[in-house]
Amino acid sequence: MPGKWDWLKDEMGGVSKITKFSTVMKFLKGRVSGPDDMTKCAMCPNMCRHACPISIVDGKETTSPAGKSRVGMMVDHDVLPMDEENLYPMLMCLSCGCCERWCPFDFSVSDILRAEKEKGVEEGVIFEEFQEMFDNLGNYGLVQGEIKKKKSYPNQGDVLYLRGCEFRGDDEKVIGKTMGAFEKLGLDAFVLSDEECCGIPAYNAGNTQLFKKLARKMAKRINDSGAEKVITSCPSCAYAYRKLYPEFGLDIDVEVLHIVEYLEQKKDILGKKKGTVTFHDPCKLVNGLENKKGMKDVLEKIGLNVKVPRRSGEKTFCCGYGGSTVCRLNEYLSSKISEERLDELSSLSDKIITSCPTCKKAFEENGNLKVYDIGELLYELL
Ligand code: SF4
Ligand code: SF4
Repeated sequence: MPGKWDWLKDEMGGVSKITKFSTVMKFLKGRVSGPDDMTKCAMCPNMCRHACPISIVDGKETTSPAGKSRVGMMVDHDVLPMDEENLYPMLMCLSCGCCERWCPFDFSVSDILRAEKEKGVEEGVIFEEFQEMFDNLGNYGLVQGEIKKKKSYPNQGDVLYLRGCEFRGDDEKVIGKTMGAFEKLGLDAFVLSDEECCGIPAYNAGNTQLFKKLARKMAKRINDSGAEKVITSCPSCAYAYRKLYPEFGLDIDVEVLHIVEYLEQKKDILGKKKGTVTFHDPCKLVNGLENKKGMKDVLEKIGLNVKVPRRSGEKTFCCGYGGSTVCRLNEYLSSKISEERLDELSSLSDKIITSCPTCKKAFEENGNLKVYDIGELLYELL
């Protein structure tokens, strides 16, 4: 696959040194000055469109990356009203950051549109499809609401394992196996019995007040836990704790790692069993946590024969359910993106590994294969 700057190298190939120099200077000046980011993006000829899962599957101008920014810009300048019709395209974004990998300005459209989404919520433009999520987060601190059947795990130890809402609500088995894998790796892991959501679903939907309320609680609980290290199965949680919380003045005092990052640091994790697998790199691991290598090396280190998808590492693709907004407003589109990704993965192997609770659920709901989380895979191989 070509790289981000290949087009520029091609364009510059036959021109004089003076022209090259002045073009590069103009480009650099444009990056640091000129109009605001949303206007720059709105005026762009959609140079990242080929990598945006929404654009690839939806194919509409309004939901293309620059299309969303154009609507955002017009709402911002009061050319269009802030209402559901105009907020909708801005919410057709998976917060996957696939645009950022190709953007000459290093923009992620989800970041560019944050202020508009926040303004929408503040002005009371709240889609009824989000209300249940907001109520559950506000009342129970979890996306799914109250979890009635709770399994108990140790609540003291050295390493705090944060499970994330998705596994707690739907896949308790993965939690048990991940805790088992930690034990096999010699970790003294524990959980927080009062773990709540990191708040990122509220953040993505523009409800910053609710995000801040959840973030304050979780930052305090983690800092009071006495853990030496935090490991989580969810790359969005790790992204929230490491990248978003500090932006809101909330620092986590201990190292927070996604499970893949922890396994990267471990030298000796050779599994007793072998096999052939393929994998899906979660976009929040690769683009959010900037782990450009993704999962390939870790899977090889475990001793597996790894089939590498065309879109992996820094060129990964979204499962269709990232960002919490598209799957609630247009589930058909989310499932189409999932199917598109599954076609690619299942052509390589019938054993698909991921390391994100949302991706696992998305693929299992939209295909016929069992999809493994890396925690449960590890438990079975060690
Ligand atoms: S994110 Fe960057 S490449 Fe994509 S449309 Fe906006 S300015 Fe263009
Ligand atoms: S963050 Fe993802 S879904 Fe949103 S515009 Fe960028 S590539 Fe498209």
